[in-house]
Amino acid sequence: MPIDIRQFPCLSDNYGYLVHDRETGETAAIDTPDAAAINRELAEAGWRLHYIFNTHHHFDHAGGNEALKEKWGCKIIGPQGEADRIPGIDRRVGEGDTVQLGASKAVVHETPGHTLGHIIYHFPEDGAAFVGDTIFAMGCGRLFEGTPDQMWTSLSKIAAMPADTKIYCAHEYTKANAAFALSVDPDNDDLKKRAEDVDALRAKGTPTVPTTVALELATNPFLRAEDENLQAAIGMKGANAVDAFAKTRALKDSF
Ligand code: ZN
Ligand code: FE
Repeated sequence: MPIDIRQFPCLSDNYGYLVHDRETGETAAIDTPDAAAINRELAEAGWRLHYIFNTHHHFDHAGGNEALKEKWGCKIIGPQGEADRIPGIDRRVGEGDTVQLGASKAVVHETPGHTLGHIIYHFPEDGAAFVGDTIFAMGCGRLFEGTPDQMWTSLSKIAAMPADTKIYCAHEYTKANAAFALSVDPDNDDLKKRAEDVDALRAKGTPTVPTTVALELATNPFLRAEDENLQAAIGMKGANAVDAFAKTRALKDSF
């Protein structure tokens, strides 16, 4: 069923999201980077908060859980793999579970890598995926807890979604990501064009998120580990995808 999505910047570079099921009026916050900002957005929209859908345990994703639960009595849904680190969790979910938001539904996918229990919420009928810190525009989450192998598998789940799926990432890291992407994929014309578009958008303070699966497949170096030109640029010609991904991630960590 149709959902309305309200996106807002908060903290230093996070995006907060409210998802509202039009038929029933039920509303979920995707993560809780900033309870005050979420309450302000709810008031502006005239919505009440029924759910929190957490992606992972980091403070800029679950730090507002308790304050919001106290104010709204909302139900908190979060990753079963790190449930003990999600404040106020009511329901633990994992790969393939369905989460209902009124008449709309999200499918949960486990995407370990950034953290070991990280999950994402895909609304297939609405063509929208809320991916936390798994993938960013032209980037991916740092491997704080997982292995390159795990993260490659996680990213592959996003890459396999319909090409027009909108990807709602949790941070505005796009400009810095573009600079790194150009360093490992310098002959990619789609990337060069996108980097220019991003510069123009950011100069006006316009968000570069959401992105789409199609745009990431064309320009995100972390999805392009099998690309010949990228492999040549990072000295990994003929490598398997996981090894080339691991090298790309390591290069980004010291870029
Ligand atoms: Zn995080
Ligand atoms: Fe984060």
